[in-house]
Amino acid sequence: MLLDKRPKLTTEQAENIAERHYGVFAEAHPLPSERDQNFKLVTDDGSAFVLKIAHPDEAEAMLGFENLALERLARETGLNVFPRVLPTRNGENLPRVPLQDGTSYFVRLLSFLPGAVLAQIQNPSAALLYDLGSTLGKMDRALVPLQHPAMVRFLQWDAAHAPLLIHQNLELVAEETKRALLENFLARFQQYAAPHLPALRRSVIYNDANDYNILAQGDRISGIVDFGDMLYSYTANDVAVACAYAMLDKDDPFAVAREILRGYQEIFPLTADERAALPELMLLRLALSVSVCARQKLQEPDNAYLAISEAPAWKLLTRLAACAHDEMLAQLFDAAAERADARVWQIPPRDKSELLARRRELLGRNLSLSYREPLKIVRGAGQYLYDENGDAYLDCVNNVCHVGHCHPRVVRAGQRQMEILNTNTRYLHDNIIEYAERLTATLPAPLSVCFFTNSGSEANELALRLARTYTGRRDVICVDHAYHGNTQALIDISPYKFNRAGGKGKPDTTHIAPIPDTYRGMFRRAVGADDARAAEYYADAVGEILERLRAQGRDAAAFIAESVSGCGGQIFFPPGYLARVFSRVRAAGGVCIVDEVQVGFGRVGSHMWAFETQGVVPDIVTFGKPAGNGHPLGGVITTPEIATAFANGMEYFNTFGGNPVSCAIGLAVLNVIAQENLQAHALAVGTYWLEQLRALQTRHAWIGDVRGMGLFIGIELVRDRATLEPATREANELVNRVRRRRILLSTDGPYDNVIKIKPPMVFTRANADEVVAALDAELQAMA
Ligand code: PMP
Repeated sequence: MLLDKRPKLTTEQAENIAERHYGVFAEAHPLPSERDQNFKLVTDDGSAFVLKIAHPDEAEAMLGFENLALERLARETGLNVFPRVLPTRNGENLPRVPLQDGTSYFVRLLSFLPGAVLAQIQNPSAALLYDLGSTLGKMDRALVPLQHPAMVRFLQWDAAHAPLLIHQNLELVAEETKRALLENFLARFQQYAAPHLPALRRSVIYNDANDYNILAQGDRISGIVDFGDMLYSYTANDVAVACAYAMLDKDDPFAVAREILRGYQEIFPLTADERAALPELMLLRLALSVSVCARQKLQEPDNAYLAISEAPAWKLLTRLAACAHDEMLAQLFDAAAERADARVWQIPPRDKSELLARRRELLGRNLSLSYREPLKIVRGAGQYLYDENGDAYLDCVNNVCHVGHCHPRVVRAGQRQMEILNTNTRYLHDNIIEYAERLTATLPAPLSVCFFTNSGSEANELALRLARTYTGRRDVICVDHAYHGNTQALIDISPYKFNRAGGKGKPDTTHIAPIPDTYRGMFRRAVGADDARAAEYYADAVGEILERLRAQGRDAAAFIAESVSGCGGQIFFPPGYLARVFSRVRAAGGVCIVDEVQVGFGRVGSHMWAFETQGVVPDIVTFGKPAGNGHPLGGVITTPEIATAFANGMEYFNTFGGNPVSCAIGLAVLNVIAQENLQAHALAVGTYWLEQLRALQTRHAWIGDVRGMGLFIGIELVRDRATLEPATREANELVNRVRRRRILLSTDGPYDNVIKIKPPMVFTRANADEVVAALDAELQAMA
């Protein structure tokens, strides 16, 4: 309905119509409205009326339907809270009134109802809320038998179309946090409300119990106005809408909703399906309201009425988003039976101090917690995490939820497959083959045989077995400060573990190559190393290990490296390093393994796999973290030759690896990366971010080095740019300060002085700006 076609009568014209058609002599005052034009008419003796001029696109049948419903409501409920339609002097209820300019409008004169709008009653009493529920119950009950040709209509406020509309309007919501909130809500609606929709009762409903349409006097409802959104839809939506608006700006919104629902159910009980869908139907109206507002603000930037509920709706939406479905159900319905039902699914929330204390008792002590002030995180969406109060934190740490926390398409792919089947690789299944085809298509020949696992550790563990079985050797060369996983065999090739707190040093089958770090390493830029010479120098160091081993008659089974060193402190190898190493290792009959657990799947922006930036083709590639966007999924891809040697009679069985659910999720992740163009996005945002960080480096002496590719970035803090003394304490302080600004960062590297940046790939330039501004402010404060 075009907003610019809204009637624009003057008060004089309104007074004229009242006089000529209704014999009412009154002063007209404009009232706010979304589509129609409304005037309050006040006569000399103080009587008041509402004159409604219908929007020209409003069908006559619809207005007739409205009149019929008002008549029916007054008659069937016995309540005196509905506007009465007053006839013209000729006895018409819906006259078409011509104006002098040749236009004509359908007009109605309604009785004016007394009372204050609910929105302006600060603390509505429980009795008033109960009365609202009861009034709505009576209305819905009275409307059930009503049938009218105009009742089925397309209206943007229809809950049945709302998810689609919210989805379509997403791009109009400028703020990332808000858009993420809506996306996440849509997934939640799909999960919790959608399965009940076919079972919900449908009938003619009022559909607009918003707090500006409800009038009250004392503890009683005195008026229900504006029936222009009536239609045939989910019956339960009336009470859902009433609750959603009445909860706005309330300290205890659930107490408000509970009273309304109590009053409603006393008259007109909800069915089990309606109760189950109610939390999301309530959220749906809030989400719809802000989403419609986003569009209308573009069309009518000056119409303040349109945005009247916007800020409180976002606030409530954010607050309720942090409240799980089952928790909302338990809050909304007091009934003991419902509580018991909900308890099966719901874990009662505990406060942070209790969780901390119980965690110490119940869980192994060597689980670490981030930040001096630990966070309780209860939801995630896109690049944001939300704490128990609904506060959003910008996540720069999580490279596991690669395409964004709880990406709706990934979640749905998993849910759908879980509903159908989950088994193991001992049956033929389409998913695993499709996934293997899609993955190997991203890799160069001859990397074409897949094994699926449940973690990066399992993948690396299997890679070691493949290499050792294929070569018949045991020794492995790894890079200093590397981390490859949590099993014993992997701790044994992870200097990051065996050389640090609690480590017992390396077994004699492990050989450590120096990390090819051109900033702090043995051969660094500061001592005149250019990239080519550094690559040669560090590759020679691997060559020396190989020679030493050969001299002892025990050639290496494998060389393993991350394509970019993460735990080593975001170290990007000088160009040509891996190529030189690989040729030396292969010449000695060894196998080259790259660990892409952190950096695979487009994170480095220029390539799908980070090893490609080094222009090499490994013999074995391992992956994990991002593959399942948080679902445990990893794997190994190797050459037919190595895979054949491994198939030596011993079965490789992995109970969960490659199951249909995991593969469905893995496929969804690949699809989202492609559809949302996330690799190119990572390149663009990462390149921009690096530029901004390098500008920051010129202003803050503590920033010794800024390095990165795509959305894998490191900021190395030093106390002295000449000696490179690591600014470990300062890095830790900075991360904790920025966390108070609700931005999550972490540190890593041998001295924990490198700020590590590896956010979900949906991270935007605006997000990058936020992080740079926060770092700038805190570095300044710390200087
Ligand atoms: N390799 C690398 C490079 C890693 O960073 C990690 C995890 N941090 C692993 C392997 C082990 O993966 P997971 O924790 O999934 O077993």
